[in-house]
Amino acid sequence: MIFGLSLSPKIALREFHRKPSAWIGGVAIVASLLLAGLLVAASVMTFDSTREEAIAKAQEAATRQVLTETSALKLATLSVVRGERGYLLTQDELFLEPYLEGRINALKTVNRIEQLVADYPAQAARQPLLRANVREYLESSAIVINLMREGSGEAAVDRVRSGLGRNAIEEIMGQIDLLEEEAHAILEQRMQRADAAALRTHRFIELLGLVGLLLLAVGSVFAMALRRSLEREAAAFDKIRRFAETDELTGLSNRRELLRSLDRMIGASKRSSRPLSIAILDIDRFKRVNDTYGHPAGDEVIKAVGQVATQMMRDQDVIGRLGGEEFVIIFPDCDTDAALAACERLRSAIAGLPVLIEDGAAITVTLSFGVSRFGKGDDRTSLIARADEALYEAKEGGRDQVRLAA
Ligand code: GH3
Ligand code: MG
Ligand code: MG
Repeated sequence: MIFGLSLSPKIALREFHRKPSAWIGGVAIVASLLLAGLLVAASVMTFDSTREEAIAKAQEAATRQVLTETSALKLATLSVVRGERGYLLTQDELFLEPYLEGRINALKTVNRIEQLVADYPAQAARQPLLRANVREYLESSAIVINLMREGSGEAAVDRVRSGLGRNAIEEIMGQIDLLEEEAHAILEQRMQRADAAALRTHRFIELLGLVGLLLLAVGSVFAMALRRSLEREAAAFDKIRRFAETDELTGLSNRRELLRSLDRMIGASKRSSRPLSIAILDIDRFKRVNDTYGHPAGDEVIKAVGQVATQMMRDQDVIGRLGGEEFVIIFPDCDTDAALAACERLRSAIAGLPVLIEDGAAITVTLSFGVSRFGKGDDRTSLIARADEALYEAKEGGRDQVRLAA
């Protein structure tokens, strides 16, 4: 059955046109754009700080390499010294092996150190001196070894005693110490820079994660809000639809909806070959009610008849107001006997049920019914026309009665 509803078209339309999804969508788009901007910024910053970190790490490694090379230079120099002294004291050719190896390594290491400190002007400026000292010492020791091999042992010892070689070694060691001191200071700085860059990268990655989470949250809120607003819009639309189908006074189906229902049920009855009956009922001498108690009291009576009829009919029956004080009841799956019986029950209920109106008066009305059954060759118009004829006969026959159409 169609039930009553209390909704004005204004409210329904206002609800329908408010479109909450519009502003929710706007807010979500702005929030998403802001977050997307933040995401791009955080990505760029993460990329920058990752690159900085890599540079700082590479510089740190280069400085460590300088320290490795200075140690290697020390070792190579000491190798030369030990080889030279050993050969000088023992003339054993075995000592020439570390000596020669030390010479090669010393020169190689000087080259490598030169390359490594090329970016540091102060250190780079001192490299020619280091190279010259290393060469000077290597030349001096070569002279000593040659003198020894030629059998001029004394000349060789004199040369060692002259202190030329020792001075060069001290110079070399002094320069290496200076280099190492500076390298340690630079290393300290670079480690700090690499640590700071790593920390920044870490922070930016955290920020990226956070922004990602926020985007997810905004997306979820938007999806939920959108769903809610779509549900609201659907509900408002449903109200409007129901309003268009409903008679304002009684809350029953209005004429248009009633005729649509009848068409639907005629179709179903044809398909299933099940019976279909209808009744048109009209309040007797209703003009008098209006004339005696006033139009609002008449309205109360129309409403009361609608309510009683609604309560007494089956769920599948459809009751609608055709207009004025006239109603139609559609009885699907009902032959004429069942429809007549239902109308008779309603007729006697209304006849014995006074309607109380506002001023305390009790109005008793009676109903006349015309019943018709959908038969071969019928359509909606003929079905209604036959019920209308039966109603006319009921009126003619003295009212307050149910008549079956021929
Ligand atoms: P009958 O027994 O032959 O049906 O007599 P009747 O007086 O009921 O018939 P008639 O059709 O002459 O009068 C129906 C009256 O119903 C006329 C009209 O003023 C009144 N009416 C129609 N619609 C409404 C309404 O919505 N509210 C009220 N109060 N009266 C209505
Ligand atoms: Mg009437
Ligand atoms: Mg009438």
